[in-house]
Amino acid sequence: MASLYFKYAAMNSGKSTQLLQAQYNYFERGMNPVAMTAQLDTRAGAAKISSRLGLDCPAYTFDKTTDVFAFIEDMHKDKRVDILFVDESQFLSEEQVFQCARVVDDLKIPVMCYGLKTDFMGKLFTGSEALLRLADNIEEIKAICWCGKKATMTARLTPKGDMLTAGQQIAIGGNEMYTSLCRKHFMRGEAKALPVSAEKKKSAA
Ligand SMILES: [Zn+2]
Repeated sequence: MASLYFKYAAMNSGKSTQLLQAQYNYFERGMNPVAMTAQLDTRAGAAKISSRLGLDCPAYTFDKTTDVFAFIEDMHKDKRVDILFVDESQFLSEEQVFQCARVVDDLKIPVMCYGLKTDFMGKLFTGSEALLRLADNIEEIKAICWCGKKATMTARLTPKGDMLTAGQQIAIGGNEMYTSLCRKHFMRGEAKALPVSAEKKKSAA
């Protein structure tokens, strides 16, 4: 039976790599997986999902106006769609998450959404919030903080590597602009290990 999946994580957890691997498994079986990603993410060039390991794959894009259900229904009429993968699913609107649910329920096509859970201020993204409510299957992909603990938060950095705490929710950037942190270091605003001298001073204080 088809399900709606939400696989979430902080930045740099290898989400896109997992998506591309899962999609490849379908290709290998002669099936027809369809992949979509957010239009605003142009890091990979036009209409591509790419991972930090260097893999990439062409993808359709969605923007605010895309009706995901109509798009897949049309495609499915021509050629059977076996699964829909959605990267950057945090950028789906609530309505588009409902459309994904209809792809599952009405067309019986599994939908696997990959995305960030929270933004750099620790707030849920619209798409992620709706997916947390609606998905049949929710899974966390692990990322690691510099301290070695599980990273659950995504921090946005200045070019100098300091943490930003205010700004637009959406600002697309690569590894240099974001880092994933455990909650403790996110709350403390420590995007990286302090130099040993500073750490000593702190514990002496
Ligand atoms: Zn940490």
